[in-house]
Amino acid sequence: MTSLDLTLDPAGRDGWVEFRSLAHRMVEDMCSHLESLRNQPAWQEMPADIRKSFVEPVPRMGVGADAAYREFLDRILRYTNGNLHPRFWGWVQGNGTPLGMMADMLAAGINPHMGGFNQAPALVEQQVLAWLTELLGLPINTSGVLVGGGTMANVLGLTVARQSAAERIGLDIRKEGVYGLGRRWIVYASDQTHNWIRKAVELMGLGADSIHRVRVDGEYRIDVRELAQAIIADKANGLEPFCVVGTAGTVMTGATDGLVALADLCQGEKIWFHIDGAFGALAKLSRNHAAIVDGLERADSVAFDLHKWCYLPFECACVLVRDAELHRRTFASSASYIDAERRGVIAGGLPFADRGIDLTRSFKALKVWLSLKAYGVASIADIIDQNIAQAQFLANLISTADDLELLAPAPLNVVCFRYSPEGVSESERNEINREILLRVQESGVAVPSGIMLGERFAIRVANVNHRSQYADFTELVEAVRTIGSAVRKETHSSPAHGS
Ligand SMILES: *Cc1c(COP(=O)(O)O)cnc(C)c1O
Repeated sequence: MTSLDLTLDPAGRDGWVEFRSLAHRMVEDMCSHLESLRNQPAWQEMPADIRKSFVEPVPRMGVGADAAYREFLDRILRYTNGNLHPRFWGWVQGNGTPLGMMADMLAAGINPHMGGFNQAPALVEQQVLAWLTELLGLPINTSGVLVGGGTMANVLGLTVARQSAAERIGLDIRKEGVYGLGRRWIVYASDQTHNWIRKAVELMGLGADSIHRVRVDGEYRIDVRELAQAIIADKANGLEPFCVVGTAGTVMTGATDGLVALADLCQGEKIWFHIDGAFGALAKLSRNHAAIVDGLERADSVAFDLHKWCYLPFECACVLVRDAELHRRTFASSASYIDAERRGVIAGGLPFADRGIDLTRSFKALKVWLSLKAYGVASIADIIDQNIAQAQFLANLISTADDLELLAPAPLNVVCFRYSPEGVSESERNEINREILLRVQESGVAVPSGIMLGERFAIRVANVNHRSQYADFTELVEAVRTIGSAVRKETHSSPAHGS
């Protein structure tokens, strides 16, 4: 190498010695961070001066890796949304694992192009997809692909559903687009369905009016009878039903639609059956609760996250599609610069690029592969069961307290509740609980999130946390009651409420 040969690698032997030392420090620091999570607040607001420090000029000249890393430690490390913490249960966010962290490092280290290329990394992804297919009970030739998140996995599933329906009427929808449909196509889903569905139909050019939102029963599961009637009525009105979406584990309450009944209905009506199992699909691994997701194995396509209830670091999700050829026909494209050859680097083509939108893809499969091998499915299943048992423990604490109220059944790992002492009006309850939620978060004790269940504001705990212990839920309940009682006194003594 002459001084004319530029590179971003460390320079020479001394450069590598120095880089190794920094790299080891990074690993040390992250391990210390993860080891000490319990001693850290569940969340902390970042100080104003640090917030301001993120507006700075483009760094035209570098400060060196050491100095840049120091800034990560000072300004970034501690100021995240908190989802690593043992008492983080907001929205549905996984923790990640130390092993997953290192797997991502290894994946970035070898940095393979995961469009395909039929070498070890591609075989790892094929293997992982085969394992996930088997674990979820789908047939052996099921196709699939790993993607960034549940949203993308669901979008891909719905797109294959559209391809299927289009082929049935002889429409080349990839060429003609939605102009060839001739009538509005309808996807059915319960009113508890996650908002990915709206993004999906908007992106697909079908428009949000193409979603028929079906009501749910008292346990927040889709009303299958109303769904069946809606399909008949829509057909009579010249609309084209093309997909039913069932949810395994709703984002609102953790309810699971009657998947067997939905599968039967779809089979009878010859409509695509897609399941959003973002976290709930993994309940299939549970020793005690797998029956909740019976029918999962009958889906035409199922989307689920591995960065939620499989505890892997962001990002990692999967879509499985029963009809492998149809999956390919939905997305495959060819161009001379990526055409398959019989030999050489591109032998076998780019099968993963042919199953979705992304061409260049990262080696997400490695963290799934390493984790499943290292822990075994049995250990992951045990923690899934622990999460469900902890949610039941929390639900029980709430049911037995006179000043707390469970606001929805808690069949899985999601618990919706509120502080609900006597002598407080319904509208005050919403206001008080919103304030409690924010103060619990700001106190750094725990991070639940909030949702509206009908007219009622609920504090919601979604437990996909492999670090939570039973005592953490007791601590949450105590915090809610202590803060609740303080907020209630303030609310009652404030002149605005005049009491
Ligand atoms: C989280 C979630 C999604 C979206 O998944 P992302 O990984 O956040 O894109 C979809 N559906 C349900 C039920 C979810 O919980």
